[in-house]
Amino acid sequence: MPADADHCHYHQDNPSTWYCDECPRHYCSDCVIPIDDGSRNADPRCALCGNRLQFLGAANRAEPFWTQASRFFLYPLSVSGLILMAVVGGLVGILGFSLLALPVWLGLYALTIRYGFVALERTMLGETRAAPLADALSGDDEHLFLRYIGMLLLLGFVQLVSFELVGPVIGMVVGLLVTLVLPAIIVFLVIEKRVWSALNPGKLIWLIGNIGWPYLLVVFLSGLISVGPFNLLDALGVQLESRWAFGALAASMAYFTIVEFVMLGYVIYENQRALGFVADADGMARVDDTPENRRRRLFAEAAVLVREGRQADALRRFDRLAHEFEADTGFHERYLQLMQQSGEVAGAEKPLNAYLRLLARHDALPAAMDVWRRGRKLVRQFVPADAQLSHRLAEAAWAAGQDKEALALLVNLHKRAPDYIDLGNAYRLAARIFRESFQDEQRAVQLERFVLQRGVV
Ligand SMILES: [Zn+2]
Ligand SMILES: [Zn+2]
Repeated sequence: MPADADHCHYHQDNPSTWYCDECPRHYCSDCVIPIDDGSRNADPRCALCGNRLQFLGAANRAEPFWTQASRFFLYPLSVSGLILMAVVGGLVGILGFSLLALPVWLGLYALTIRYGFVALERTMLGETRAAPLADALSGDDEHLFLRYIGMLLLLGFVQLVSFELVGPVIGMVVGLLVTLVLPAIIVFLVIEKRVWSALNPGKLIWLIGNIGWPYLLVVFLSGLISVGPFNLLDALGVQLESRWAFGALAASMAYFTIVEFVMLGYVIYENQRALGFVADADGMARVDDTPENRRRRLFAEAAVLVREGRQADALRRFDRLAHEFEADTGFHERYLQLMQQSGEVAGAEKPLNAYLRLLARHDALPAAMDVWRRGRKLVRQFVPADAQLSHRLAEAAWAAGQDKEALALLVNLHKRAPDYIDLGNAYRLAARIFRESFQDEQRAVQLERFVLQRGVV
């Protein structure tokens, strides 16, 4: 990929989210409207060549990890996070520390970890809104929490064995290694839901190697965070003497656990390209197949074609969809603008008349007048194909003192629309304009005589 791979070819400020390797072009989400037409893998196509576009994921939209710190720390302060912390802190505070309370403590721990998993998974996929607590409560088919506990016990056991049997130095090295790989293990556990694949050394090395320094930063921050609850209580001057102090400790542990998991999720999200997966960020998801979205797509593709100097192709695309958007003022307006900008005006009458027909149907006479005037700059002596509209516009122009325009709208009306029911009044108006505005008595009388001869009313 070329050097500007991170940004849209047409919008230098926008991160690129799609890529055409045929052209080759990088597109942003203003340029490509990915419509969900129900079929899987229906990637949008390149406006220039029709090739299937490749989704680059939201990695280019991801802000660097350290600029997001406030987000990680605010994450648990969502409604769900606050409820979780209140429940954890409250129950621990009420029950205190006793053997009987142990199952409850375990249950609260499970809830916290499961919420952490959900938060991690969502953050990893680019979701910025906090996970609902219900997601942590609803079915854990994979028994992720039990697997997690099992894995922690296993790692603890390995540490203990190496410490006791091999020696303290080796024991410490193993301990450090476990600290280093634990976040990666958690990631694989969440993604693959299997302990053994999460413990696969080759995979762990691959993940850590591909993320690099940001990974080590997370490990380091996780270390800091794990002592966070104690520091927090210390700073608040809480002594671990009462049951409520334990409650506060438990609540703040829940808080820091969530922060840690979200942080981890964000590192994966941010490094998705290196990790070879693409996450749909907010707003990157496919949009519904609605007329409005199809119109957005058309406009976006036309804009790209125009930027490449392919105005004729852009106009052809509008022409092809003219029937679908027949009743869409925005479509007609954009179509007309495109014709005005491009100078490609062959066949302009058809879209001009379609636009005018729609405006007439809505009784939007001033707008129709405006379109007619713009149309005349494109097509010499353009008049609406609709005789009644011509007539109404002529009346409006005459009332506004635009006598030349009024006449232009009426010229040759009997040839343009021989069956027009109100031709008599139209030509009587024309006669009046000749007489009153141009003092052309001869033409006025001619027209009046014509009306009488033809017997039109
Ligand atoms: Zn763009
Ligand atoms: Zn292309």
